[in-house]
Amino acid sequence: MKATSTLAIAGLSAGVGSTRIVHDIDLTVSSGEVHVVMGPNGAGKSTLSAAVMGKPGYTVTAGSVTLDGEDMLALPAWRRAVAGLHLVMQYPTEVPGVALDAVLLEALTARGAATDGLDELLRTEATAIGLDERLLHRALNVDLSGGEKKRNETLQLAVLRPRIAILDEIDSGLDLDALRACSRRIEAATQPSVDGPGLGVLAITHYNRLLTELRPDTVHILVRGRLVAEGGPELADQLEIEGYQAFAVAAGVADGEADVETKPVVRPGSLGELFANP
Ligand code: ADP
Ligand code: MG
Repeated sequence: MKATSTLAIAGLSAGVGSTRIVHDIDLTVSSGEVHVVMGPNGAGKSTLSAAVMGKPGYTVTAGSVTLDGEDMLALPAWRRAVAGLHLVMQYPTEVPGVALDAVLLEALTARGAATDGLDELLRTEATAIGLDERLLHRALNVDLSGGEKKRNETLQLAVLRPRIAILDEIDSGLDLDALRACSRRIEAATQPSVDGPGLGVLAITHYNRLLTELRPDTVHILVRGRLVAEGGPELADQLEIEGYQAFAVAAGVADGEADVETKPVVRPGSLGELFANP
């Protein structure tokens, strides 16, 4: 059985270009644990996940990210994935002309994993997650509904079996049935099995409805790019009652205005950037 894994984020400050968006983030996630980062729109949740996964266009100005002691910041995103990190993106990318089953075959091959029985595994997982089997052979995410995209992302997670997964608002654009199917599958992955320790999860959300199926061990609150509070599942209930502003005021990071709805700026990065060596 494989040993337990740990993702350690220490003193991480990151942003886009010269703009720092998240500051001094400390977070440690080990196998089988579910950590939830909750924060309002524009708090820096997607920036944190992009910086940890190595999305091109994001810069780290301080701190470290290691997986089992290996420096992730020195690696391009695909090597971080091979090492065992996985990101479920808030807005899954559409890839015309490349089918889901082909992507998974390539990804498993790249990490030296067995691929026999892949078709059967894909069908089993599709049934478990409630994804129409025909979508397995269609172009990745193209013309899929919000719910289908997130079921599709969850299937990739189930098949690739990373050590630590970051879920960036897996609950956005999902109906309740899809949310339940995805969060149940991920919760099941966190349980240890004969194959190894359970998946470690860093789930990012601003709703606590995700937390009814995916039970967190630790809840962290991110406001204006800073982690301002940490606690058990009860912190999510307290947040529901008090709102983010109360936490921001208590931590001295409020500026008097409520956060406004922000649209993320899409910076896809070129394929050259994605596959470049550091
Ligand atoms: P969240 O995911 O918590 O809603 P984001 O990490 O997407 O927050 O964004 C945090 C802040 O950083 C927002 O003010 C947003 O406008 C800004 N931001 C995010 N990505 C970019 C980018 N690529 N270029 C410029 N500003 C960005
Ligand atoms: Mg976001």
